[in-house]
Amino acid sequence: MKIARTIAALRKLVIPAKKKGKTIGFVATMGYLHEGHLSLIRQAKKDCDICVVSIFVNPFQFGPREDFQRYPRDIKRDVCLSKSSGADIIFYPSARLMYPSGYSTFVEVKEFSEVLCGRGREGHFKGVTTVVAKLFNITAANISYFGQKDAQQAVIIQKMVRDLNMPVKIKVMPIIRENNGLAISSRNVYLSPEERKEAVILWQSLRIAKRMIKKGKRSSWEIISSIKKLILTKKTAKIDYVECVDMQTLKPLKRIKGKVLIALAVWLGKTRLIDNIIAKAQKKIVR
Ligand code: AMP
Repeated sequence: MKIARTIAALRKLVIPAKKKGKTIGFVATMGYLHEGHLSLIRQAKKDCDICVVSIFVNPFQFGPREDFQRYPRDIKRDVCLSKSSGADIIFYPSARLMYPSGYSTFVEVKEFSEVLCGRGREGHFKGVTTVVAKLFNITAANISYFGQKDAQQAVIIQKMVRDLNMPVKIKVMPIIRENNGLAISSRNVYLSPEERKEAVILWQSLRIAKRMIKKGKRSSWEIISSIKKLILTKKTAKIDYVECVDMQTLKPLKRIKGKVLIALAVWLGKTRLIDNIIAKAQKKIVR
């Protein structure tokens, strides 16, 4: 496995391979890798000839009061985990390389960036789409892998690729969870033992909501209320949002019809976690 710290070094590895007809699978990460990231790396290696993993804590996607400085980092561990999961190349640039002085170009998917997580995290998705667009250009990826864990991000990236005719295919992979159902996240390290225990309610409440839909409940309000009620039984929990939205447009749904994304963001103490589930309302069979 090779580590490229500059764009020229990465291109030297990638471009000749592409010329020989090899396919590039690309996984964008902010490092501090866990099973969620590794599932994307394994899939990329399975589908493509060469798997490129980027490790870059992107300053532009953090707000001024967010956790950019204290975001967990461990490059040595990331290198080992990437290698053992099948990565061929790690792209590990500095912020100065990605955004040299005078940098002034941004990519923004307006429509979907102002709902759900976008409401409380101004500029976050603009930072994400900008860095991902740059990384697609730098890596010349054929297929890029994203996690359903960040459902809104995946929808936004897919829209960016469509709108800008980017020659890359996006694959969205399932959420990897701990045995107790907690969605794995680099930010889980911030949780105290009590918060970690209480955080399991996110997944539990989403599963209950899915069951409600399966049993025939169609009012989003009722579903959202029951999720909120369950979450608020936990002492350290404070709800940012719970919403039932259309899978493609991310528009809130009053009534559940077809496939729906139930997404939430919840603070456990000082840590904000997100999670989601996809539920399908079956049409009633009239005999
Ligand atoms: P991050 O390092 O948090 O920017 O995440 C990099 C990629 O890994 C994104 O596409 C995430 O959606 C994905 N990812 C993070 N956590 C998980 C998880 N628990 N399961 C699946 N994918 C994940």
